[in-house]
This record gives sequence, C-alpha cells and structure tokens, in this order.
Amino acid sequence: MNPTVQQLTDWDKRYVWHAFTQMACYEPLIIESAEGCELIDIEGRLLLDGVSSMWCNVHGHCHPAINAAITEQLNNVAHVTNLGCSNSTAIRLAKRLADLTPGDLNHSFFCSDGASALEVALKLAFQYWHQCDSPQPKKTSYIGFEDAYHGDTIGTISVGGIDQFNAVFKPLMFPVKRLPIPDRRVPAEASACAHHLRLLEETLQQHHETIAAVVIEPLVLGAAGMIVQPAGYLKGVRELTQKYNVLMIADEVAVGLGRTGKMFACEHEEVIPDILCLGKGLSGGYLPMSAAIATTEIWNAYLGDFGEAKQLCHGHTFGGNPLGAAASLATLDLFETEQTLAQLPAKISRISEHLTKLKEHPHVGDVRQCGMIAAVELVRDKASGEHFLWTDRHGHQVCQFALNHGVWIRPLGDVLVIMPPLSVSLDQIDKLCEVIAAGIHHVTQAKDLT
Ligand SMILES: *Cc1c(COP(=O)(O)O)cnc(C)c1O
Repeated sequence: MNPTVQQLTDWDKRYVWHAFTQMACYEPLIIESAEGCELIDIEGRLLLDGVSSMWCNVHGHCHPAINAAITEQLNNVAHVTNLGCSNSTAIRLAKRLADLTPGDLNHSFFCSDGASALEVALKLAFQYWHQCDSPQPKKTSYIGFEDAYHGDTIGTISVGGIDQFNAVFKPLMFPVKRLPIPDRRVPAEASACAHHLRLLEETLQQHHETIAAVVIEPLVLGAAGMIVQPAGYLKGVRELTQKYNVLMIADEVAVGLGRTGKMFACEHEEVIPDILCLGKGLSGGYLPMSAAIATTEIWNAYLGDFGEAKQLCHGHTFGGNPLGAAASLATLDLFETEQTLAQLPAKISRISEHLTKLKEHPHVGDVRQCGMIAAVELVRDKASGEHFLWTDRHGHQVCQFALNHGVWIRPLGDVLVIMPPLSVSLDQIDKLCEVIAAGIHHVTQAKDLT
C-alpha cells in the first residue's frame, strides 16, 4: 500500500535530513510531479517554480526532448566508469562543450556536483604549477572573495567566504587570501571597480609567488544575495591574473548556461578563464552533472610518459555518467531548437519593469538584476538601509505567502530571489513578480502596524 500524505510528511520530518534546514522546525513541501515551469505537490497544488529548483532548471521540467534523451540512453546503458574507460555520450558532450566555450577551453573533466567540479579546478591549478614548463611549486595558495560561494566541501568552503555557514569548520579549512568584491550597496559606487581592482593588484604584487589561482563567481555572487559586479571588474581581474602569472578559475555553476543572457557569463566581458566550472544547469537541472573545463595550456602540463606520474589523481564514481551526459546534450540542443537565448531579452526587460516598480516599496532597499537572475532586498528602513532582525525571517515569510498564492521561491535571508527557468513565459514572470510584490506588502504592512 502506498503511504498516505500524512505518513510521507511524518517520515520526511523524521528520516530525511534536509540540506541547510533546521529539522526541528521544518515544514515539508513534497513535490510529486512537474511540467514546464510548474511544480505539482502531493496535494495537487500547482506552484510556479520561481527559482528553477535551486537555480538549475533551464528549459522547464519534464521536457519531452530531455526525457526522451534520458530514456534512450537508459535503454543503452545507465552507467560507465570514466576511469580509463569511456562512453559515446560523454565524448559527444565534451566535444560540444569544447566547441561552445570561448578560446581553447577544450578539455572537460566531468564530475557530478558543482562543488566537485570546483574541487577538481582547485587541484588542477595547484598541480599545474608543479608540472608546467617553468614550475613554481611555491604557488600553493588561492585568492577568493568575501561572501563567495563555491559549494560545501572542505576545499570549496575554504575558497568560499560565507562565514555564517562555515565558522564552525574553520579548523578544517586551508588558508586563503580573501578580498572584498565591489558591492553597489556600499557608497562610492562609481569608484568601486577601480578601487577593488587596486586591492587585488596590491595583493597580487605582494603574494603572486605563492598564489596558484584566483577563484571567482563571474558577474554575480549568487548565494551572497545576488551581488552584481560593476562592468569591467571581471575583465580587470582577468588582466591582473595574467599580469601576475596566476590562474583564473571561473565558477559558472550558477551563472553559466544562459542565465545571464549569454551562454557563459565570462562572454559579457570577453574573458577566457584558465578553468571554467559548470554544474546546475548543465544537464538542464535534470541529473547530477558538472564539469571543470581547462585550457590546452593546462592540459599539456599533465601530459608525459607513464613513469612521470603527471596525471591528475582524482575521480568521482559517477563523473561523466552517460545519463547526465544525455540530458546535457539534449539541453544544449534545446538552446538551438527553441532559440532560448534569442527569447531572453524580452523576458529580461519584463523582469526589470517589475523590479522598477518593486523598488518603490518602502521596505525594499535594493533590487538587483543580471539577465535572468534578479533579487529584491528587504530592509527595515529604506533611508539608512538598516535590515530587519534576521531571526524575524521576513524573506521566509514572503516565501510562505507566495506558496499560498501558487508561487514557489526560496529566499537568501531577507533577499528574495527571482530566478525562473529560462523557458518561463511573460505571463508567468508577471505572476511571479506580482505575487512577490503582494507578499512584501502583506508581510511588511503587518510589521508596520505592530
Ligand atoms: C550551487 C553552486 C555551487 C555548488 O554546486 P553543488 O552542485 O551544489 O555542489 C558552486 N558554485 C556556485 C556559484 C553555486 O551556485
């Protein structure tokens, strides 16, 4: 007999340990199915997927083309190891990514999660300096950014900068030089870009001999609250890494695959990193699939006779899994057949129209947007930018309101995230933003009256 809704709810609270969730006060939302941009929960409620199921869905749920590609692959073989062995689907994906990525980012190391792709990138950069033409084995450290997010493994929290998540793990983390990133909520906006590039240059001047790589989320710091970098910053970072002979790792796990309006965020600034990491949307958000894509310069440093032992000793059991690769190829095909990127400008401007209106609200301190990524930041006091008490969970309350009005979104503290699948319709954007506006009004008005 199938379990009842009540049983599933009870078991979910008792037996499933959810990510980033206080299980003592967890209230289950149980999804049974989905179609397009809508999720359907166990009680049959239709919910607009306002955050692409944690920023990863691209062309909508249950897309017939992606489903068919996975099914076809399933009927051939579900899994093949990539340790000294291959499968035709992963090979085709690697070729496709080599053609699609800028420059000579031609060599894909496949993993399963974003964090594992970042771990590979960190190791690739580290070992590169031992094996490149003029080895610099003292390059053993990294430069990262305050509030950056690259995943939750020990290596990725070391280069990440969200102290609120990671303070307890400090003793496990390796030291990283951490710099602030320009944030336009901070005054002196106009000079921010130059100022922060100067900070980076000072650090590189002093420490470049010990720095293997700079690790950056291009254009937008996601988990930090969708902090958008000023134009020219990414390009400036790239120029400085080249000037000081340091590698650049671009973490496009969140911003890659069309999110910013172009296929890769780096393309906005004509930047070609040394290693580009993809995840989340790579498989359309269907299956675990990620990649660390390296340039030929890095690839070459790992080539040699067997006895030289220059290979990267790293692997994940399901890296390059053919089901994930099939979903990824179908996802890339859909960018062409559905002309996904060509449809985005209209959707992006529709979102900005809504943001312009939302910005007027007395409890909206800032609105931010980069392509199909948008955020609305709630504040207690608009003039001073003073925030609400984080424990009052205003962001969460707005999301609860939205849930009761057919929209599923997840906040980052008091920052509301608007990040629907790229296939979202203009009507759905209207609904998403109107419900958020009503939610903000509802939650903050209640506050003002008390
Ligand atoms: C989500 C995310 C990661 C981690 O990916 P997982 O698949 O959750 O391990 C890394 N970097 C960025 C920028 C992300 O948004």
